[in-house]
Amino acid sequence: MLYRVNNLYTCVQGEGALAGTAMVLLRLQGCEVGCVWCDTGETWFVRNENKVNTLEQALGTNAHYVEMSEQDIAQSIVERHKGPKWALITGGEPTEQPLNPLVTELHRVGYRIALETSGTAKGGVGVGIDWVCVSPKIDNPNSKALLPEVIFEADELKFIVGKEADLEKVDQFLATFRYKENAQILLQPLSLNPKATKLCIETVQNRGWRLSIQTHKYLDLP
Ligand code: SF4
Repeated sequence: MLYRVNNLYTCVQGEGALAGTAMVLLRLQGCEVGCVWCDTGETWFVRNENKVNTLEQALGTNAHYVEMSEQDIAQSIVERHKGPKWALITGGEPTEQPLNPLVTELHRVGYRIALETSGTAKGGVGVGIDWVCVSPKIDNPNSKALLPEVIFEADELKFIVGKEADLEKVDQFLATFRYKENAQILLQPLSLNPKATKLCIETVQNRGWRLSIQTHKYLDLP
């Protein structure tokens, strides 16, 4: 099938449970979630005028995307991004496209696969992804409904927290949805805000959870 590729580059995962791991990041175009604090707004819309013909034309932080088959994506990764052992599929909301063929092909060429999803679409369910990070947008007024079957696949539940009221929503979420017994629960301060950071640190200490810091932003990495 054809995937809408917005960007592809080697990075060190900056946040979440796999922070510090070298990864080739595959950013897919398109997201219908519309989070108010989104920092990848260029990936939201799938507009024909932004479709380009080559991967080179799509690369970078912009709204351009190129349609590529899973085989072409895998070949590009193998040829240009040999170092990392992990491929990170992110977006946009990558699960708005069916990920099964892509996951199968990336496994075939030897990569382990991590996924970042908001939990609002099913394209990554039951396809054998090695590490699923679900980041539910619990304080987003525009948010689409969360899907229980996606939440239940999470190896990592990562919540963005800006204020006390967000923690109540985290508790509500955890009381509402079934999730794996060994899923890691992470709190990530909203936009590096110092008050939010202090709140997250205190809470993970009290609850035995884990802190997620956007280290790439402190290091000025993509
Ligand atoms: S789901 Fe991700 S890409 Fe989509 S609006 Fe929210 S933060 Fe942005």
